[in-house]
Amino acid sequence: MSRAVYFDYNATAPVLPEAAEAVADALALVGNPSSVHRFGREARRLLEDSRAAVAALVGAAPEELVFTSGGTEANHLALAGAGRTRILVSAIEHPSVLEAAPCAVRIPVGPDGIVDLVALKARLSETLEPALVSIMLANNETGVIQPVAEAAHLAHAHGALVHCDAVQAPGRIRFDAELLGVDCLSLSAHKLGGPKGVGALIVRNDVPLASAFRGGGQERGRRAGTENLPGIAGFAAAARAAERALAAARRVEGLRDRLEARLKARAPELVVVGKNAPRLPNTSCIALPGASSETQVIALDLAGFAVSAGSACSSGKVKASHVLKAMAADDKLAGSAIRVSLGCGTTEAEIEGFVEAWSAMRGRLVAQSAA
Ligand code: PLP
Repeated sequence: MSRAVYFDYNATAPVLPEAAEAVADALALVGNPSSVHRFGREARRLLEDSRAAVAALVGAAPEELVFTSGGTEANHLALAGAGRTRILVSAIEHPSVLEAAPCAVRIPVGPDGIVDLVALKARLSETLEPALVSIMLANNETGVIQPVAEAAHLAHAHGALVHCDAVQAPGRIRFDAELLGVDCLSLSAHKLGGPKGVGALIVRNDVPLASAFRGGGQERGRRAGTENLPGIAGFAAAARAAERALAAARRVEGLRDRLEARLKARAPELVVVGKNAPRLPNTSCIALPGASSETQVIALDLAGFAVSAGSACSSGKVKASHVLKAMAADDKLAGSAIRVSLGCGTTEAEIEGFVEAWSAMRGRLVAQSAA
């Protein structure tokens, strides 16, 4: 392969041309959306059109949407702003949820990576104190899709509010905030071809939300600060293009399945994490027992393929994945997983190239461990 191949769409997706164009056009607008004059009104119009487009992506009403600086802020806003001190989260949430509520009760997942609804029900039944439950729609490391609608039904029956981190889902699976039945839902533009640094929280059912930032009445008082209009316009353009990505999801899934089958045929010891669970069509979390995630990511990068460690990287140190550990994987397996995440631009030739590069890497690692 002469050029580098990008297989890290779950980290961030390439910016779509129409999103880049929308950002550039919005940069040319002078006004502040809060200003009363014509320049302000023009900016306000773009803001509200964008709000409607992003809300429509998840079947929400425009007034239910609060723009944020990304998925991380949306998660913090929901967890801190909903005003519940008893918080229950799945053990496989993104760190932006886990660290927003460090004292939260962690609900386990099964070996398939799916949250244990029996355990959720048991923890909800322990006390009458109204809780907030946070369950992600699809896991960023494994792609495993969670039974959010069932969890929401259960939680509501116990008087709890429900938040869902849906950051990885738009453009990959069809879903709707109302059908999920959640009260709050987090989104991020850069996972679906929008710019980085912009996201949204959908707030439904008139849930009162305390703002984290004060000092301005923007976003109906739920998030003070002049809106990032270029980012928001880019987010809206990506949201409008999500249908195109959904139309390509089956093709992408075929490529992902072929990748896994080809690797497994060459390396029977390969573990495909969450293989039997419903998964995002673009995501493959594969563990090569005995080979560290970091070594694999570096070797594949040298071979021209950009993938991620299926593990959290903090202060330059790669730690075994909390997601895989929660799935009862031992430390060795949890430290040997990589995440390959594909997108609309992925081609068959790239998949074949990856299979060859991965097999060559495995051959070298096997030879080294035998020496
Ligand atoms: N939630 C999930 C599931 C994610 O995968 C990510 C990003 O990787 C985030 C939240 C954070 O989103 P952002 O990068 O927009 O802050």
